[in-house]
Amino acid sequence: MKILVVGGAGYIGSHMVKQLAKAGNDVITLDNLSYGYRDAVKYGEFVEGDLGDDSVLDSIFRSGDIDAVMHFAGFIQVGESVIKPAMYYHNNVVNTFTLLDAMLRHDIKNFIFSSTAAIFGEPDYTPIDEKHNKHPINPYGHSKLMIEQVLDDYDTAYGLRSTCLRYFNAAGADPDGELGERHVPETHLIPLILQAASGRREDIKVFGDDYATDDGTCVRDYIHINDLCDAHSLALQKMMKEDKSARYNLGNGKGFSVKQVIDVAKEVSGNDFKVSIEPRRAGDPAVLVADATLAKEELNWQPQFADLKDIVKTAWDWETGFLAKQ
Ligand code: UDP
Repeated sequence: MKILVVGGAGYIGSHMVKQLAKAGNDVITLDNLSYGYRDAVKYGEFVEGDLGDDSVLDSIFRSGDIDAVMHFAGFIQVGESVIKPAMYYHNNVVNTFTLLDAMLRHDIKNFIFSSTAAIFGEPDYTPIDEKHNKHPINPYGHSKLMIEQVLDDYDTAYGLRSTCLRYFNAAGADPDGELGERHVPETHLIPLILQAASGRREDIKVFGDDYATDDGTCVRDYIHINDLCDAHSLALQKMMKEDKSARYNLGNGKGFSVKQVIDVAKEVSGNDFKVSIEPRRAGDPAVLVADATLAKEELNWQPQFADLKDIVKTAWDWETGFLAKQ
């Protein structure tokens, strides 16, 4: 297949490009490099450009034969979305419309969309399945839910098939050591903890220890990047075979508190480091854990990195390998 990966120079996109190319697909990455890295695109063709730019999209789609589009080019920081909602709605909603319109102009009808656990907001129950009510509590979650709703309508009206994958907490790195997480600024828990473990950061700040959880810190469901990519590949195959849209929650179904993740990182790295307790971060629900039964049943998806220690180990290898040399 020929697949356009929008945001293929970013963390999840770059791992996806590698997996698709290794599986024999023809891959084109479109990325404006605002957050991505040119050297993270190690496979296929690279086009520097914006998903909100009609002319770039037209020229890619005109070149012909694109079977499907995967869209990873969303802004992802919950806290930032609370402070700068316009930026989030513009990139995550308006620019995605531009991409979808271009797809329709060129009659490309298969779309895989990076969605998020943030569309569910504060959970009514846990683990969260696909039937759970959707009531986001921050602009990031709203922006992703808006596109999910648009995609429902585009399916009905235009026959544009979509699979929305709601990631819980993507983590870890390519086990080959070629790719990993490189956000600037880094805001995610595991890379920040590992920076503290390797001495690149003075301490790790825990955002709130007064939540209604066992140890008072937030609980999240961490899922390895390769497992996430596997689910995309399986979802794409199924969607194209059955000509049907779908929505899946993706996680391991196990929650770990911030303090537990810190303990695992200390064990994996063999290093101790300073932990400071800070106030809560805006927009953080206390517990987010996935019920991924549907993905397992319908996609035959089976995560290979079900143990948090294994996930953290791949991230630690990236921290002490590639990142230490930067
Ligand atoms: N977190 C923290 N300290 C940090 C970064 C994150 O305590 O320096 C917490 C954050 O409040 C959340 C969890 O770790 O409860 C995971 O946050 P992350 O930003 O990695 O992912 P999110 O759940 O926001 O997608």
